[in-house]
Amino acid sequence: AKKAVLGPLVGAVDQGTSSTRFLVFNSKTAELLSHHQVEIKQEFPREGWVEQDPKEILHSVYECVEKTCEKLGQLNIDISNIKAIGVSNQRETTVVWDKLTGEPLYNAVVWLDLRTQSTVESLSKRIPGNNNFVKSKTGLPLSTYFSAVKLRWILDNVRKVQKAVEENRALFGTVDSWLIWSLTGGVNGGVHCTDVTNASRTMLFNIHSLEWDKELCEFFGIPMEILPNVRSSSEIYGLMKAGALEGVPISGCLGDQSAALVGQMCFQDGQAKNTYGTGCFLLCNTGHKCVFSEHGLLTTVAYKLGRNKPVFYALEGSVAIAGAVIRWLRDNLGIIKTSEEIEKLAKEVGTSYGCYFVPAFSGLYAPYWDPSARGIICGLTQFTNKCHIAFAALEAVCFQTREILDAMNRDCGIPLSHLQVDGGMTSNKILMQLQADILYIPVVKPSMPETTALGAAMAAGAAEGVGVWSLEPEDLSAVTMERFEPQINAEESEIRYSTWKKAVMKSMGWVT
Ligand code: ADP
Repeated sequence: AKKAVLGPLVGAVDQGTSSTRFLVFNSKTAELLSHHQVEIKQEFPREGWVEQDPKEILHSVYECVEKTCEKLGQLNIDISNIKAIGVSNQRETTVVWDKLTGEPLYNAVVWLDLRTQSTVESLSKRIPGNNNFVKSKTGLPLSTYFSAVKLRWILDNVRKVQKAVEENRALFGTVDSWLIWSLTGGVNGGVHCTDVTNASRTMLFNIHSLEWDKELCEFFGIPMEILPNVRSSSEIYGLMKAGALEGVPISGCLGDQSAALVGQMCFQDGQAKNTYGTGCFLLCNTGHKCVFSEHGLLTTVAYKLGRNKPVFYALEGSVAIAGAVIRWLRDNLGIIKTSEEIEKLAKEVGTSYGCYFVPAFSGLYAPYWDPSARGIICGLTQFTNKCHIAFAALEAVCFQTREILDAMNRDCGIPLSHLQVDGGMTSNKILMQLQADILYIPVVKPSMPETTALGAAMAAGAAEGVGVWSLEPEDLSAVTMERFEPQINAEESEIRYSTWKKAVMKSMGWVT
């Protein structure tokens, strides 16, 4: 059969909390040609603990790459057209492995994990009230969320890791580092690196100097020799060492939320996107300035697309639980069999009938940062059924977004006129309409929702030495937009929102 004529292709690994995907795009149009996805197990060994198996994560990447290449073959697309690979990943999740054996020394401690709450409490006593050097250097509040405290916990509690550090065999990394090191050869010359966006979520990285910070490493007691080299988000880190794409350069690396910002082309100061995955993350590009929030948002590195390119920063509103509440209804309550089914239940009733669901399973992130909050479902009556709870779960995702959008508008001074969205949950039309109603601004969704992968592919394709992606809007000609306009009136929207806030107050301070 005749091979299809195409521009250069770029692949992207999207290693998320729920699943791993590999996707291949045409760099001339951003058309998604083929992909494969594998769900990832999450382990909850104790209350508040969330772990994943680093080996399972790595194998899922190989499986997705191989399956995608097979599918391309069936489409008569020659995989030798794939010129580069980008990596985007769940951020903060902490992996420690042995550089001599290539074996993980402990499970990955996932960003949602709460085991470090007491570590956080004791550390925060050591930060002077008038000089919060952690916040001013990293842009982050001290919280269980970020890697440094997870790594501290591992160093304190896992004998194998302590021994490996003493013997100079231990390597630390977020999921991007673990994958890039393994994919570029592992024990046979794997490259131990990360990019500035992932580094900026560890709480060990100075976002002004763009270097690991000695004072922070001392504060958290982290040996600097186990940290990866920090590189830009777009440069050749190394070559794939095995599999169908052996020899292809890995040349893009972005934390998933930064990747989505790039994939949505939010390159201008003031442009923002919200991604609905396991959690919800609203990022607003603030250009070359580090803007510090007065309203509970984080300051973070947005991207640096090349060694000699300038760094961009973002303000970020992070919500821990969004899609995860749907997964919880599926796995823990069993009221749905698939995540998609939630839409059918919600549609049946079209209202929560006064039921409010605050899914503070991992405490509350932005704008409250209350680790002691826990989930509640309130406003129940004899009349409430599973459909109302399903509806309330979707509404909760929208209310949480409203809270971070309000904070963003206050910090930026100029309210957003519309919200660009993406992520696994945005295929849910009820959710999208509810979101427009609750924000009272239009919600705009690209026809191709895989913007995280697209952003990583763009960074990889644009790297020096690859040069197949120019990052101009015409390169996205295959992407069209769908709009959801607010349909209820603003007054009704405000009443629902203020009742939600009442429910949030009830969820806070639960754990004492
Ligand atoms: P991540 O990048 O965090 O792994 P994804 O963007 O893949 O997440 O989105 C997956 C999440 O979205 C899961 O938590 C899942 O429960 C939820 N989800 C997927 N499809 C739907 C849907 N149709 N309606 C509501 N939630 C959904």
